[in-house]
Amino acid sequence: MTEQQRYDYVVAGAGSAGCVMANRLVRAGHRVLLLEAGPHDRLKFVHIPATFVRVIGTERSWVYETEPQAGANGRKMFVPQGRMTGGSSSINAMVYIRGAAADYDEWAAAGCTGWGWSQVLPAFKRAESNTRLSAPFHGIDGPLRVSDTRHRHPLSLAFLKGAQEVGLKYNEDFNGASQEGVGFYQTTTIDGRRGSTAATYLAAVGGDSRLRVVNGAHVLRVLIKDGVATGVDYRLSNGQIATAIAEREVVLTAGALSTPKLLQVSGVGPAALLQKLGVPVHKDLPGVGENYQDHLEIIAHGKCREPISLFGQDKGLTALRHGIQWQLFKTGLLTSNVVECGGFVDTLGSGRPDLQFHVLPVLAGDVDRPMPELHGISIDPCFLRPKSRGRLMARSANAMDPADFDGGYLSEQADVDTLVRGLKLARRIMRAPSMAKVVSQELYPGPQDHFADAELEQFVRQYAKTVYHPVGTCKMGSDPMAVVDPTLRVHGIDRLRVCDASVMPTITSGNTNAPTIMIAERCADFMLAA
Ligand SMILES: Cc1cc2nc3c(=O)[nH]c(=O)nc-3n(C[C@H](O)[C@H](O)[C@H](O)COP(=O)(O)OP(=O)(O)OC[C@H]3O[C@@H](n4cnc5c(N)ncnc54)[C@H](O)[C@@H]3O)c2cc1C
Repeated sequence: MTEQQRYDYVVAGAGSAGCVMANRLVRAGHRVLLLEAGPHDRLKFVHIPATFVRVIGTERSWVYETEPQAGANGRKMFVPQGRMTGGSSSINAMVYIRGAAADYDEWAAAGCTGWGWSQVLPAFKRAESNTRLSAPFHGIDGPLRVSDTRHRHPLSLAFLKGAQEVGLKYNEDFNGASQEGVGFYQTTTIDGRRGSTAATYLAAVGGDSRLRVVNGAHVLRVLIKDGVATGVDYRLSNGQIATAIAEREVVLTAGALSTPKLLQVSGVGPAALLQKLGVPVHKDLPGVGENYQDHLEIIAHGKCREPISLFGQDKGLTALRHGIQWQLFKTGLLTSNVVECGGFVDTLGSGRPDLQFHVLPVLAGDVDRPMPELHGISIDPCFLRPKSRGRLMARSANAMDPADFDGGYLSEQADVDTLVRGLKLARRIMRAPSMAKVVSQELYPGPQDHFADAELEQFVRQYAKTVYHPVGTCKMGSDPMAVVDPTLRVHGIDRLRVCDASVMPTITSGNTNAPTIMIAERCADFMLAA
């Protein structure tokens, strides 16, 4: 049986951007349908900051899989994303980073008129409620709580001191005057709990009768008639198909690994692909699914002298003690976002960091790379502005089928070279006096002091992994490969916008949650002004 409902706006995907969108549209008085393929977020492991890793691989995550990547020794790469209310903001490491001012000035110069730093900064500030920092860079009244980490692990402190010993400066605010240096990250947490966009933006309008949120609702296609988007078809978890009509606009907020597929199966994308899929061509847009970008990191692992890392803290009575402390006081280890500290380094002396560190007080592996059961630390340099590009193309006309996904990872030598430079720096920090006090030996790449560059390159190609920042597959701009214009309207289709990480023309220099929230804040402005 087909159900049909009417709303002002239909928003497809309740992730970082979708929840912002719902808040802003409902607050402006509109009737909004927010559709989310995954379940609700009411699960303790989601709200306890330190336990998000436990959610990856469950029904509350997607684990996208690439084709074998030639640049990565033929390995497949695994890219987890959130699949619940809050999307990836319900599963991420909560690091609050906006990127560099120059990122946005480059967007503007590349044809994204109105997206320069001075134009996006007010939206970052409007979104933010910072518990320590204020003007000129920070906001204090926004829905998104940005706080210092409550927990500071001894291994995080050792890294920060070691990094200073090799000459890196300490930075109190990576989102202030300069990114450069090392320090503790600020996090999207609220008094020791995760502050996803579901827990903040969406919760703020949760009781509003103009908002309807449907979980287990997989959007199948955008309905398009004579070049105008009129609504969507979606499938409920019981298999029923429903249709929702958008009297004003349809907004795709399904994330960079889903939104392009939705457009393609709806007849918006490269004409040759659409014909192969057997869907009618509403608009030949060759850029849909192209321009994929992500951040990769390579981890240097060190073994601890004493049993002080996070290893084993999630077991038995120790776990119970942490759980009770969190439940009663919202303090202690479980308030840690795990990636408590890191930093930004300009390894080429170009005047702008090209590398970011994430540091974890535990031996962190990957979906397909288990770690030995030992106490250790992971120092993860990742490149900030990759040159490699990938693509995502629907395999069939069914939006529920996985797409053909080629990450293009490490296809450009420059990206490998940046990771090799980062690995060398990570290894120097590992051997600095403050780190040597807590680390007995380097486990990977290995204990010896020197490796030839070719050996490190081979290590990078074998073990580099994603930092889970997929972007770019529906890029904003005005060139022939652009999918949306600078107000995020899909080129050539009326009443249809894309508003998520896929619109970034180039990836920002840092973690991508705050930039995605900023994009959604601005998109709501454009829609409400239309
Ligand atoms: C494990 C992990 C750690 C991360 N750590 C950080 C960090 O510390 N700091 C940071 O800034 N960034 C981090 N990120 C990245 C950041 O969270 C994302 O860039 C950001 O959340 C992207 O927002 P989005 O709105 O584009 O997509 P998402 O938040 O992923 O939202 C997309 C939503 O759409 C839903 N959806 C998809 N397809 C459909 C469909 N067909 N129908 C209905 N619903 C659909 C999905 O289930 C999802 O809920 C991390 C990401 C991950 C996965």
